[in-house]
Amino acid sequence: MDPIVPKNFIQQQIVEDLAAGKNDKRVHTRFPPEPNGYLHIGHAKSICLNFGTAKLFGGKTNLRFDDTNPAKEETEYVDSIMDDVKWLGFDWEDRLYYASDYFDKLYDFAVELIKKGKAYIDFQSQEVISEQRGTPTRPGVESPTRQSSPAVNLQIFEDMKAGKYDEGACVLRAKIDMSSPNMHMRDPLMYRILKQPHHRTGDKWCIYPMYDYAHGQSDYWEGITHSICTLEFEVHRPLYDWFVEELKDSDYRPRQIEFSRLNITSTVMSKRKLLQLVKEGYVKDWDDPRMPTICGLRRRGYTPESIRNFADMVGITKVDGVTDVALLEFSIREDLNKKVQRVMCVTDPLKIVITNYPEGVVEEVDAVNNPEDESMGKRKVPFSKVIYIEREDFLEEPSSKFYRLAPGKEVRLRYAYFIKCNEVIKDNSGNILELLCTYDPETKGGNAPDGRKVKATLHWVADANAISCEVRLYDRLFTDQDPDGHKDKGFLEFLNPESLKILSNCFIEPFVKDATPLSNFQFERLGYFNVDPDSSLDKLVFNRTVSLKDNSKK
Ligand code: ATP
Ligand code: MG
Repeated sequence: MDPIVPKNFIQQQIVEDLAAGKNDKRVHTRFPPEPNGYLHIGHAKSICLNFGTAKLFGGKTNLRFDDTNPAKEETEYVDSIMDDVKWLGFDWEDRLYYASDYFDKLYDFAVELIKKGKAYIDFQSQEVISEQRGTPTRPGVESPTRQSSPAVNLQIFEDMKAGKYDEGACVLRAKIDMSSPNMHMRDPLMYRILKQPHHRTGDKWCIYPMYDYAHGQSDYWEGITHSICTLEFEVHRPLYDWFVEELKDSDYRPRQIEFSRLNITSTVMSKRKLLQLVKEGYVKDWDDPRMPTICGLRRRGYTPESIRNFADMVGITKVDGVTDVALLEFSIREDLNKKVQRVMCVTDPLKIVITNYPEGVVEEVDAVNNPEDESMGKRKVPFSKVIYIEREDFLEEPSSKFYRLAPGKEVRLRYAYFIKCNEVIKDNSGNILELLCTYDPETKGGNAPDGRKVKATLHWVADANAISCEVRLYDRLFTDQDPDGHKDKGFLEFLNPESLKILSNCFIEPFVKDATPLSNFQFERLGYFNVDPDSSLDKLVFNRTVSLKDNSKK
């Protein structure tokens, strides 16, 4: 293998550890989600980083569910997380773990700490414990039970486990340092009583380890060499190290490395807020295409490649920042542009009758499938006497800058003919019903033999064989760049009332009739679209993934 030139400080650290011969030159990372919601694009960054880094160094990555809180965790979330990681293109092979796998070991280790006089039971309330913890500049106050004997503590801990105490009656705390400048070292909680069944261990336990007590040892027991996490855990690191140091059965230690979390403009990212959007019905579900969840992005038409490329472009840093959502949109545009089939769809149809075209004839014109990739070839598109164009591509009284169709003007129908508008047919209220046009048979394929030019090329769908469909247009879910960043207003106040527009009378060319859910297309001139899973044989439904260009700065 060629030597790896590190691209970021995490790779740099690994290169150094390998050079120093640490951990028998193993590289082993893990992705540790809590199964209390669906994964979002921020998690995708962490997944790409953990799996991607291990892969680069020929190492391994575990998937570990940090399921220490039975109150908020569900199997539904576990399943969705596995689906999402796989869909992103990563594989934990046979290394699927749960923090709950370690409940027995964690309990035994807690007993050991109690016996060593390094953990004790506290009967005070949460409020009192927090109050006594002090502040970074003021030392904490010791709990009255801090000096209880190991034998007393052990008996109570066993009784806690046996269900003899009520929820909230007492907790187990590590005895570390009540005057440490690091608040996490001031006798942190190890266990609390929760009389709730767990999604995996059922009714076996009524005491549960705190995340901070479980996390470091889980890494240790799994042989993780590089424990990559977000910056807020930097201050927890001495605590994780303290517990692992107490385990002391080898020289090996996982190395924790922190990086800055991903934030994106016009987006909320905390699972709690995403859950609120779902529960209170502001969006349809976790996979609503407006959600920043991985399943939402998938339903919207994002590809795994585009998300991996995005994670790469964002890079890894130690400084918190905000990434423009336009970068995410850029990465999907770039990916789809190279790959997807072009088709023509008219979303707001205006009927055109071509008066000099023979009745009942359907001919086929050749259309290019993808100008970026010749190997994708061509397809036949039906053309007939009645066609549809977008209503906005016609103006009865155009300004001098409007080059599209207008009375007396000629335009090109893409891949077909030049047409000229001769007459506008209206109803009694003056609404335009249809246009009467003539076509020039000499211009088949879109060019005039006499060399005359037209200034506009329109997409269109012929009435013969047209398929009617529904098109869902999405806009940003929030109108503010930073919906979470206002003191006086909550994020819900910035919900965009126009984030979803449904166009139910669209026409699309017959090419798409067998398209399967989630397949991607470019609708010429309109953007990238995919087939929504709501689609059926009776009614095709498309989502707009992204417009062709970034219009947000207009
Ligand atoms: P949230 O704050 O969104 O509710 P979380 O941090 O509580 O997320 P976890 O399930 O604990 O969610 O996260 C699993 C892993 O994903 C952790 O290692 C965490 O650091 C990482 N992660 C979570 N959010 C982001 C983000 N926005 N950017 C990068 N990594 C993230
Ligand atoms: Mg978390």
